[in-house]
Amino acid sequence: MGPGSPVDLVRPVIRALDAYHVAPAAGAIKLDAMENPFPLPEELRRRLGEELAQAAINRYPDPVAPRLRAAVRAYLGLGPDVPMLLGNGSDELIQMIVSAVAAPDRVVLAPEPTFVMYSMLTRIAGMRFVGVPLREPDFALDVDATLAAIAEHRPAVVFIANPNNPTGNAFARTDLEQLIDATPGIVVVDEAYYPFARQTMVDLAGRHPRLVVMQTLSKLGLAGLRVGMAFGEAALIHELEKLRLPYNIGVLAQIAAAVVLEAPGVLDAQAAAIRAGREHLETELRRLPEFTVWPSRTNFILMRTAPGRARPIHAGLRERGVLIKLLDGSHPRLRDCLRVTVGTQAENAAFMAALHECG
Ligand SMILES: *Cc1c(COP(=O)(O)O)cnc(C)c1O
Repeated sequence: MGPGSPVDLVRPVIRALDAYHVAPAAGAIKLDAMENPFPLPEELRRRLGEELAQAAINRYPDPVAPRLRAAVRAYLGLGPDVPMLLGNGSDELIQMIVSAVAAPDRVVLAPEPTFVMYSMLTRIAGMRFVGVPLREPDFALDVDATLAAIAEHRPAVVFIANPNNPTGNAFARTDLEQLIDATPGIVVVDEAYYPFARQTMVDLAGRHPRLVVMQTLSKLGLAGLRVGMAFGEAALIHELEKLRLPYNIGVLAQIAAAVVLEAPGVLDAQAAAIRAGREHLETELRRLPEFTVWPSRTNFILMRTAPGRARPIHAGLRERGVLIKLLDGSHPRLRDCLRVTVGTQAENAAFMAALHECG
């Protein structure tokens, strides 16, 4: 056998993937990635600096992360009895869950359109992904179609983002309970937008053998730290824990996340400001007759332009220094769609001004 290119060794499923694209953002008003736009208060930043200066970065991180775990439990009001798994962002938790069950004949299922990491990490793990279309025009869960798909495909994992990204709506708890009861595998309810929807099934986690509830500190305001949490029944969390690389949360991230979570009310006040900003932005966007605007339970707003206008508007905004997410082309139900993250008052105003210019 000749010395072929090492690239030929890469599995075809990987070579067929498009890399997850992050747009360059230098200098732009960044409203494309659901980040919290607010800086931390001066006093808290000083405390962070002091605590981080003491960090033993010559040592490997504590794999148990006891202070961070305690801070997360206190923040969410969870007792020590709910088993928790920490990930380097919830992206890593999705990867752990998928690789725990990976086998070529297995299926992972999710309503679509949704968060692209579910299908991407499923394919990387060598499994088949089945998307069940959400209903038009409101992106409601099609419970009957989902139950039928579960019966047909017997998925090893069902992912449900609640509220859903990129549609912004939340699903009814009773509908999700029905899906959990019907699923032979694991049901992951991804509550990345909990700070804005304030609706959770974490009270069921640890008590239902199939249910894993995922949350993250990213949308709350700590996206740069990469901390995600999964809650579930002890036996399942125990197995998933074996997939976790022991040092997946760095020393600095453990300390910084704990310090911020321990500061009472700071992130909650920012989330409340984002919710208020969302209501205001939604009202402003609804005044523009050329856009269809979906109601949102998150920190972003999904909207549809007139046919063929999403791309030029997205490009026009970018030329004016405002970065939002172009969804047109990513899924049939997202034709002509754009997604804008709620920013500060000034950023939202700059977005609206730029939109008036190029809309
Ligand atoms: C943003 C997002 C995530 C990713 O969260 P990280 O913790 O930053 O990895 C997970 N799920 C959904 C639905 C998201 O929108």
